[in-house]
Amino acid sequence: MPAVKDPYAILGVEKKASEEEIKKAYRKLARQYHPDKNPGDSSAEERFKQIQQAYSVLSDPKKRREYDAGGIFSGGGFDPGAFRGGNFGGGLGDIISDLFGNAAGRAGAGTPRAERGRDLETEVHIAFDQAMEGAQVPVSVPLSAPCKTCRGTGAKPGTVPQVCSLCQGRGVESESQGLFSISQPCGKCGGTGTEITDPCSTCKGSGQTRQVKRYKVNIPAGVRDGSRVRLAGKGEPGARGGPGGDLYVITRVAESPLFKRRGDNLEVEVPVTIPEAVRGATIEVPTLNGSKRIRVTPGTQHGTVQRLRGEGPARLGGRGRGDIHYRLVIDVPRSLSREQREVVDELAAVMDENPRERMLKGRGS
Ligand SMILES: [Zn+2]
Ligand SMILES: [Zn+2]
Repeated sequence: MPAVKDPYAILGVEKKASEEEIKKAYRKLARQYHPDKNPGDSSAEERFKQIQQAYSVLSDPKKRREYDAGGIFSGGGFDPGAFRGGNFGGGLGDIISDLFGNAAGRAGAGTPRAERGRDLETEVHIAFDQAMEGAQVPVSVPLSAPCKTCRGTGAKPGTVPQVCSLCQGRGVESESQGLFSISQPCGKCGGTGTEITDPCSTCKGSGQTRQVKRYKVNIPAGVRDGSRVRLAGKGEPGARGGPGGDLYVITRVAESPLFKRRGDNLEVEVPVTIPEAVRGATIEVPTLNGSKRIRVTPGTQHGTVQRLRGEGPARLGGRGRGDIHYRLVIDVPRSLSREQREVVDELAAVMDENPRERMLKGRGS
């Protein structure tokens, strides 16, 4: 890219020079450096070109305002129109943004910038045991990704996007309204500075296609129903070199017929017989990976909870494991054999105290 030069310096006028002063300076210099007067002098010819271009900017009030607002004047003579129809490689976008990106950006309009891709969310359904032990599960995520046919350019393979004919590649439209000049992203190219004359047939020129990405996701042991597992960068790809968004995998954990999850712990109801509750016993109870024995103390009441510490689900973040709570439920038989019936009758005869006596005292009868 040619060195950036100051059109005021080229014409030898001050920044606040009037239109008349600029015209005068131009006429004088143009006469002096005209190729007819300097045959074969290439430096004079170069100077003459610069004078022409400097004048083309400063004599046009709109272009002059844009330059004053921070635009770039490339004195070596760059005509965006020269790109039209030319065959430039994949670097065209870079050239355009080098030449015009800064000017457009400083003019306050929307220069297309690298954009982070969107975050995506998907659900996986896993079995209770998988949630307890951890698992590797496949997920498929539909997303928009750069078209493979045109590699995201939107242009038919073998063609390249052309400089936008409306904004000449600047990506902005400027409009003068009285004293003000309003800049906004170009309506034709959306601020990219390029337009696609020959769209890719796969993506219809959008540069994006719907694709399904498949990943294997490691679900850590101990996840709960509704836990979110984050896969950095696996969301929608970024635009113009921006980073990809993240993918959040939400775990839907199937219920266990046995265990209920309560925070970091599991709860399970364990039936005990009347004699076990009355006399005490050692009973076998289920755990996540087999069974263990717990002690039922003599005189155990209905609903008593016994804990097995560290036998519950893994705590996320490697902080050990939770507990399993065994809620002891006294199993009252609904029917009895004749022999059992006789024994219960005998028990009733010897256990004749009324447990409700105290609560009814003083309430009349
Ligand atoms: Zn445009
Ligand atoms: Zn395409």
